[in-house]
Amino acid sequence: MQSTVYFIDLRAKYKDNFVGKLGKLLETAGLADVIKKRDLVAVKLHFGELGNTAFIRPVFLRKIVECIKRIGAVPFLTDSSTLYVGTRCDAPQHITTAIQNGFAYPVVDAPIIIADGLRGKSETAVAINQKRFKEAYICTEIFQANSLVSVAHFKAHELSGFGGTIKNVGMGCASRKGKMAQHSDVAPKIKTKKCVGCGDCIPRCAQKAISMVQEKARIKSKKCIGCGECILVCPNQAIQIQWNASVPVFLEKMVEYTLGVLKNKKDRVLFVNFITDVSPACDCPPFNDAPIVRDIGVVASTDPVAIDQASVDLVNQERALPGSCLKKNRGPGKDKFKGVYPDVDWHHQFEYAEEIGLGSRDYILDQF
Ligand code: SF4
Ligand code: SF4
Repeated sequence: MQSTVYFIDLRAKYKDNFVGKLGKLLETAGLADVIKKRDLVAVKLHFGELGNTAFIRPVFLRKIVECIKRIGAVPFLTDSSTLYVGTRCDAPQHITTAIQNGFAYPVVDAPIIIADGLRGKSETAVAINQKRFKEAYICTEIFQANSLVSVAHFKAHELSGFGGTIKNVGMGCASRKGKMAQHSDVAPKIKTKKCVGCGDCIPRCAQKAISMVQEKARIKSKKCIGCGECILVCPNQAIQIQWNASVPVFLEKMVEYTLGVLKNKKDRVLFVNFITDVSPACDCPPFNDAPIVRDIGVVASTDPVAIDQASVDLVNQERALPGSCLKKNRGPGKDKFKGVYPDVDWHHQFEYAEEIGLGSRDYILDQF
């Protein structure tokens, strides 16, 4: 069955500015159908790492908040903390980064609640019974919200080829343990040269998987459950994630997690992709390289697969911008994502998503 993806471009007029168009997009795409009066609404976005400037502008979130409040619901802005050490690896630092990037209450008119708690451990196990996972570990605050508005910055991505709705939901709504499970099949590893034998990591492991051998920490992989807790505690960053899941396996895991996030929110989710500042990598590093295509617009849909397929197609029909890192596949109709990451078969994300019933690649684009 064909899904509808609604699209606004960036053209604007004196009496029809872009923020106003964004409000009409949400209305037309059915915001009032997925959100009920008095709902607690999780607005899931990426606040951007400090130093990265490709994230969605706070003023657009303010409009989304305004539209949700007009329905009589209660929105909060949310994201989960990162696996790696950075400026968003626990709730206090994450909220501070979000405010420094402009998402302060007086700007966005809604509070920030970090979805997986103080240290990324606030999670709810959701049974999904799929090929890769029987259970998905979903951030509790998102699980408990009545409805969800996913607001994704669409761009290329080093692990998944592109990053849009499925990445924002499947990875971004997973707890630390859920992220570990998607990224890796094995325990973190100790870089023994960096380990000074301080022992700080040992009491932080609830599984008692870490011990000291010849004044260096060692992880017993059979005991490790991959919670990622030890990674953040090491003052020398000696404990590192093994980013070893192969691309197709990683994509399947992320798609299954998306299914898990949406499981208790049937017909209660709207997806929005901003196809602007289409950078060649995700918003997690403390920088962003020049965009690979021009700013295109914003799409919205209730189908998480259709919206990402439409976003891929809109990017690929563009000509590459001069001065970007894209050296291959630069013409209109060429695969820009393969141009940046030739080894990542992003199509598999869609094939598997359709296979497990997440949504449809078949869509009609309704531009207004
Ligand atoms: S916290 Fe880091 S440096 Fe200290 S023992 Fe553990 S791995 Fe080694
Ligand atoms: S990932 Fe979790 S279970 Fe594994 S060693 Fe680290 S703290 Fe322990």
